[in-house]
Amino acid sequence: MTPAAAPPFCARCTAGSTAPGAPSVSTNQGIGSMFWGRAATCDECGSSIRTLWRVFLLLPVFPRGSFRVIQFEEEVDDGESRTAFVSRRIPLRWPQVAKGCGASLAALCFLLWLIANRAR
Ligand SMILES: [Zn+2]
Repeated sequence: MTPAAAPPFCARCTAGSTAPGAPSVSTNQGIGSMFWGRAATCDECGSSIRTLWRVFLLLPVFPRGSFRVIQFEEEVDDGESRTAFVSRRIPLRWPQVAKGCGASLAALCFLLWLIANRAR
């Protein structure tokens, strides 16, 4: 097993962000942390701006921060690979925060609508 080298950020993306990056990202039964959104993909290093959310049933609930993220396939064992990422923190990306809240609100409204219709 050889540790895959994480792809580097280009100078421009490094200058516009700070270390350390995002904490570990994992979800269990739809609850945990995950990235939502993707914007401003860099054509030099391939990183893009993503917002890390606390999620409940895979829906964004609370933004934990925005990051420049490079996703890559990491070899773990005998040709097996998993998706890993490197990230650097950037200021909170409000358009992505708004979009995430909007998605959650829409899902919540839909759920309430379903409940209201069943009660009739
Ligand atoms: Zn870049």
